[in-house]
Amino acid sequence: MNILERYQAMEYGPAPEARNEADAWLKARDFSASLFIGGQWKKATGGKTFDTAEPATGKHLASIAEAGHADIDAAVAAARKALPKWQAASGYERARVLYAIGRAMQRHARLFAVLESLDNGKPIRESRDIDVPLAIRHFIHHAGWAQSLAKEFPGHSAVGVAGQIIPWNFPLLMLAWKIAPALAAGCTVVLKPAEFTPLTAILFAEICEKAGVPKGVVNIVHGGPEAGAAIVNHPDINKIAFTGSSEVGKIIRKATAGSGKKLSLELGGKSAFVVFEDADLDSAVEGLVDGIWFNQGQVCCAGSRLLVQEGLAEAFLAKVKARMAKLRLGDPLDKNTDIGPLVDRTQLDRVRGLVAQGEKQGALCWSPESELPMIGCYHLPVLATNIGPANILAQEEVFGPVLVAMSFRNTEEAIELANNTRYGLAASVWSENVNLALHVAPQLKAGVVWINGTNMFDAACGFGGYRESGFGREGGREGMLEYLATAKVKATQIKAFDAPGGVAERSEGDGSFIDRTPKLFIGGKQVRPDGNYSMAVHDAKGRHAGEVGLGSRKDVRDAVTAARGAKGWASATAYNRAQVLYFLAENLAVRADEFAARLTQLTGASAKAAQAEVDASIERLFEAAGMADKFEGTVHNPPARTVTLALNEPVGVLGIVAPDDAPLLGLVSLLAPALAMGNTVVAVPSARWPLIATDLYQVLETSDIPAGAVNIVTGRTGELAAVLAKHDDVDGLWIVADSATCKAAELESTGNLKRVWTSNGYAVDWNSPAGALESFLRRAVEVKNVWVPYGD
Ligand code: NAD
Repeated sequence: MNILERYQAMEYGPAPEARNEADAWLKARDFSASLFIGGQWKKATGGKTFDTAEPATGKHLASIAEAGHADIDAAVAAARKALPKWQAASGYERARVLYAIGRAMQRHARLFAVLESLDNGKPIRESRDIDVPLAIRHFIHHAGWAQSLAKEFPGHSAVGVAGQIIPWNFPLLMLAWKIAPALAAGCTVVLKPAEFTPLTAILFAEICEKAGVPKGVVNIVHGGPEAGAAIVNHPDINKIAFTGSSEVGKIIRKATAGSGKKLSLELGGKSAFVVFEDADLDSAVEGLVDGIWFNQGQVCCAGSRLLVQEGLAEAFLAKVKARMAKLRLGDPLDKNTDIGPLVDRTQLDRVRGLVAQGEKQGALCWSPESELPMIGCYHLPVLATNIGPANILAQEEVFGPVLVAMSFRNTEEAIELANNTRYGLAASVWSENVNLALHVAPQLKAGVVWINGTNMFDAACGFGGYRESGFGREGGREGMLEYLATAKVKATQIKAFDAPGGVAERSEGDGSFIDRTPKLFIGGKQVRPDGNYSMAVHDAKGRHAGEVGLGSRKDVRDAVTAARGAKGWASATAYNRAQVLYFLAENLAVRADEFAARLTQLTGASAKAAQAEVDASIERLFEAAGMADKFEGTVHNPPARTVTLALNEPVGVLGIVAPDDAPLLGLVSLLAPALAMGNTVVAVPSARWPLIATDLYQVLETSDIPAGAVNIVTGRTGELAAVLAKHDDVDGLWIVADSATCKAAELESTGNLKRVWTSNGYAVDWNSPAGALESFLRRAVEVKNVWVPYGD
């Protein structure tokens, strides 16, 4: 046998990572007292425990204390007690604690990695080289945010006690994504790890003890859905941060409706992996392996939908199959292992079930003839072809090692297929033509787009989704804002306004008068309400001031269609939008006296107050115009050979429900930032004094605003808000209204998980930081992070 033959005949020998330190740790700990509450290790009050086992072998690892309601109450109380002192600590003090956590984790990195692989089943190469270093980076990165908080986020302070619920696929990393920004912002936390993977969170709590985290600042409780729900529903929690399935995310959206809790949801995905014919094919294949088989495909942003350009499909899939045949399944602690077991038998059954269903619907599922370990929750990697767009494997998140492959003919079709999902978490685009890649990236409905790469993460770059992938971002400046709130001002509660009973079939006039009832403003035209009904408007003294159209569900639907169709506005340059908004301000200024008189007539405001409201509205339009080309994204420099372009993209079609209080300034303060950032709008003006909005039609008509960019539907606030909340083609909703209307809108918004911001039943002071333009500019955009690698 010559050397080459010997080399080729060589078998892999096992290269296991040592587990003795982890075994010693497991043996030494009393897991029946594993709730970390107020800096102490506690047993569950009910004495309940649950087991966690190795997915690779089924062997029992530990029996963990399972928190009941009393334990969650105790954890929340501990966090509440610790809050004032932690919040009042200087940024420097908090930074030192965060840094100390990061350094202590570095010292125990190996133990963290081994425990993670034992508990979750992920290959040690991943936990050692990705999960643990990224988690550490998160704490060290956020030390800087803690110290610079006052300077970087003026007018903001910690939102309060944060309840955090995480999944099992990246137990330590998800914990870091949650706890680091919360602590940096000055929040205290109650975190619940997933029931399959509690171990690294217990080790983390030990680290908190060593790193000098004050008692009660970090509380870690264990359990399943019940414990999670107890956190979500706890009245003394100010913020819920959830990572998990879209299904549970929707339950949480409903459960928190009307509670005033700040909410971020990081949910599932069905991310596209798009390969153009000019891609570097070998790199793309390696990227794909990482994209779908990393962590056995149990990754929210897994590139589970391969879209490959037609001419290339056969050759590319052949390469993929050849590479799949070389993937090594086995012991997660073996450094040669590419694919470990799935986390649990239930997950294995779920994946098998979905593959079987996909096959029934016509999919051809191919797997290599690799050896499958005899025991453990292993699943071979799967390549599914012959997939129709409606196949369950193309639509549902499998959360396992299953790749579906489809082909496309041209760029437009690639974008269309990539966006043909209810999710919007991530996407990968492969092309050696950076012009093409950067042309495609902004058109993909996804919070993260990797160009010629995949699964790149960094603490400085926000991560999070669109649509049913949830809302909110983790990491970077955007992530910090999830744990901050503007200073509370004493606000007046809004009382629900019942439209006067004098709603009547609209009179077509008695023949002697021209019909003067203002209509609705849809698609750039004044149109009659669908039902042909009108609503009486009374002035502050209860005298009849006029009538407006009574908008219905159908009118809202028409307005949404018009807003969706006004594509020119989002694609107009920011300079262009600025000019239109300046023009709008100018045109309002020309008619300032008329608007002031109307305000006085309707609301009874003094001439001076009315003039001030009109002036403030003109100023707000000017300010928004000025910021249209300045509220821009950022370029991040993560520790890799890549730049990350954080782009501020419009949310899309925004519903706006304006208040009765300051009916002109309120409407303009919501409308102006939405338009400045390129959104199109369906606005429901004050129901009490809608005539101020109908007077705006002419100003809008003469200001070069494209048809459909602004649509105004007058009518009953509660009814119209609910229609907007339910409408699946509305991407975001802002409501300043009474608490029942705000709550109902949050409840009704779960269909497409639209971004809903409400004033929670309170009036907004448009001159306070909470009512300032900047707050709404932030809400008017989705940050998309586009990762662009450089170098050879
Ligand atoms: P899951 O939704 O079943 O559980 C997630 C967490 O929520 C667990 O801690 C669980 O105990 C808890 N929980 C379950 N029901 C609850 C309820 N009714 N109220 C409160 N808490 C409840 O999800 P999973 O199966 O553990 O995780 C997989 C999912 O997580 C996938 O859909 C994946 O895409 C998603 N994920 C998303 C991201 C992201 O950043 N977008 C990251 C990782 C995972």
